[in-house]
Amino acid sequence: MAEFTPEPSCADPEDKNRLDIAAARQRIASLVSPLNAWQSCPIRDALDRVLHQDIISSIHVPSHNNSAMDGYAINSHDLAKGLSELKQVGIAYAGQPYTGAINAGECIRIMTGAVVPPECDTIAMQELVEVDGDIIKIHRPHPAGEHVRYAGEDLKTGDVVLSAGRRLVPSDLGLIASLGIAEVIVKRRLRIAFFSTGDELKSIGEVLESGQIYDSNRYTLYGMLKRLDVDILDMGVVPDDKGQLRQTLIDASTQADVVITSGGVSVGDADYVKEMLAELGQVDFWKIAMRPGRPLAFGQINDALFFGLPGNPVSVMVTFYQFVTPALRQLMGEANTESLTLQVVCTDAIRKRPGRFEYQRGILSTNPEGITQVAITGGQGSGILRSMSTANCFILLDEQCDGLPANSLVTVQPFAGLI
Ligand code: AMP
Ligand code: MG
Repeated sequence: MAEFTPEPSCADPEDKNRLDIAAARQRIASLVSPLNAWQSCPIRDALDRVLHQDIISSIHVPSHNNSAMDGYAINSHDLAKGLSELKQVGIAYAGQPYTGAINAGECIRIMTGAVVPPECDTIAMQELVEVDGDIIKIHRPHPAGEHVRYAGEDLKTGDVVLSAGRRLVPSDLGLIASLGIAEVIVKRRLRIAFFSTGDELKSIGEVLESGQIYDSNRYTLYGMLKRLDVDILDMGVVPDDKGQLRQTLIDASTQADVVITSGGVSVGDADYVKEMLAELGQVDFWKIAMRPGRPLAFGQINDALFFGLPGNPVSVMVTFYQFVTPALRQLMGEANTESLTLQVVCTDAIRKRPGRFEYQRGILSTNPEGITQVAITGGQGSGILRSMSTANCFILLDEQCDGLPANSLVTVQPFAGLI
């Protein structure tokens, strides 16, 4: 009788396919070369896109010294220790500079944003002066530079305002507009194809028969990809059938930069994805020492990168955020793909066994004392998709961690930082 050989466990250091998270990320990063294709687009369309070229300032912003307050533009040297009386000789509005002369003992009325004339070096706020016809009484000395915004104090001519590789956020659009630039050069959008595998899966609109479930992974994948601002090719549900899998993989890999599948990468009998991939491309199958999301396939089919994510709904999201997101951002030419982590107290006890890194789902909140804390969402099974909807962060627990009592300090990764 054949001897039973158990599948190597991820806790088994002898298993050559066992990887820790950092090693898996590193292997993926070493196979991703940033896209070298770009396009010009109007600044509004550049939100969330990655800059291909540095943005260099060709002007000073602001272009002139201007007032930060409504008041009076004066020369600080004209002011006595006590009361000074200056004569108002004109008015400067934003966009309408005062062009006359200002002699010693004179001042002008000035509005916020108006050019500060060269004869003046400081602004007296209107609330602090007494007005008597065209005589302005100022009760205390003002040092030079009060309420003056200097030319170039935001951006200077020649400054690298934004560097290539930056994903543009709303303030960046404003910065670019402040330079008078209408179009920017950004990386072209990635094309990502994805499909679900499994005989048990039905699409929305179909009737469920015994043992069947609706395909949810294609919708979470759609949502996560949409946030990354990529072009999406949803190839539907493919049953566990070699011919259909082969054809869909070929179609997807010829149309897209990256192909993502869910399901079919574990060791079940019907997991044909593995077999097809061995035939069509160069793909490695890893057992990552993590939970959820242990099995992961990564490699290349034709010219496309391939990610075979596990089927369980939470595993799909965890592996997407931890491995696919950084790889796609690297492929898009983004320079910084690190996500933010924080250390906070967890108000619940945490159950965990040593051996695997865990991404438990947590809820960050602010307690009545104003301190940020985290709680566990409840059941942590990889099929409990609701835990992802309830959560707003992952709680990161390292391989050695053997559970924690309530009120321990833990590291969290807010979902807001994952894009
Ligand atoms: P697999 O990796 O194919 O063995 O799938 C693991 C588990 O995830 C099984 O319980 C599947 O039914 C479930 N699953 C796989 N794909 C999907 C999907 N697209 N939507 C929801 N559940 C899925
Ligand atoms: Mg399956």
